[in-house]
Amino acid sequence: MFEMLTHPAVSGLLVMSLIGALAYKAHFVDISGLVAAFVVGFTIWYTGGVASFVIILFFFMSAGLATKYKYKAKMKKNVAQEGKGKRSWVNVFGSGIIPMMFSMAMYIAAMVPELTMAGWPFFLFGGYVGSVATTSADTLASEIGVFSKSKPRLITNLRRKVPSGTIGAVSLLGQGVAIFAGLFIGVIALVFALIAPTTIPGLVVANGIIVWDYVIFLIPLSILTAFIGCNIDSLLGAVLQNRFVCEICGAITDKEFHCDYETKYVGGFKRFTNMHVNLGSSALGSTLGIVLGAGLFVWILGGLFFWIAASSSN
Ligand SMILES: [Zn+2]
Repeated sequence: MFEMLTHPAVSGLLVMSLIGALAYKAHFVDISGLVAAFVVGFTIWYTGGVASFVIILFFFMSAGLATKYKYKAKMKKNVAQEGKGKRSWVNVFGSGIIPMMFSMAMYIAAMVPELTMAGWPFFLFGGYVGSVATTSADTLASEIGVFSKSKPRLITNLRRKVPSGTIGAVSLLGQGVAIFAGLFIGVIALVFALIAPTTIPGLVVANGIIVWDYVIFLIPLSILTAFIGCNIDSLLGAVLQNRFVCEICGAITDKEFHCDYETKYVGGFKRFTNMHVNLGSSALGSTLGIVLGAGLFVWILGGLFFWIAASSSN
């Protein structure tokens, strides 16, 4: 009986039923979002293991709480999520599909000796962390950053102050929240690495030896992917996303209604919505995660240094 309960398919169903019921009761998701969360959560539990599952659970719960946080105040600022903040299947798959794919890839890589030997289970775990860190940082920074006391600035022109809720608006508060989200995910991964190392894909090699380099990578990897991924998201949003201007308050938004009036289309690709931006930044965040997981910190930090040096000289 006990052995049956510990089979990942059975435990996954039990855990997801419990969490799904709680999330639905807390109004984090609607029915379609609940079904989508069940698919994503179960797949990650089954293929990625408990550490990967707790990492996406952190995203799911913190995003739910942050969306609910001061919801009425966000309504007044026209920056609240629609549908009383309940996420639908579009939202859930939008933020969960890439992590889910990485989780399945880790599972497969762990079964192929050549890939395991080459370190791919951990590199893919880096990609997994990178995508969840990016999405978490972006969601939390947007939901909490709107309460920044100072006016946010536009990521494509940092001298320009813009109303909160503007696409591509960044604030110090938002940047701090993004870094904190990355730190939190890194700490979750580190705790699992220390107390149950086999739950982190690729961390324990065939002869039972822990790869300590990988343990050291966990926190920097997740902070860097959260911070860079979140800013890539703002940048993609500012450059590509369809945007409308509110003729009442002057805000640039992705909403077709603002301040109770219809907004006017001003730019961006018409079919390029926030979901595409999120998918794009999540994919780039995961790519960065793979690169960092493979230990190429020196390369990344060097590139970042030259990029900053080059952009501050003109
Ligand atoms: Zn307005």
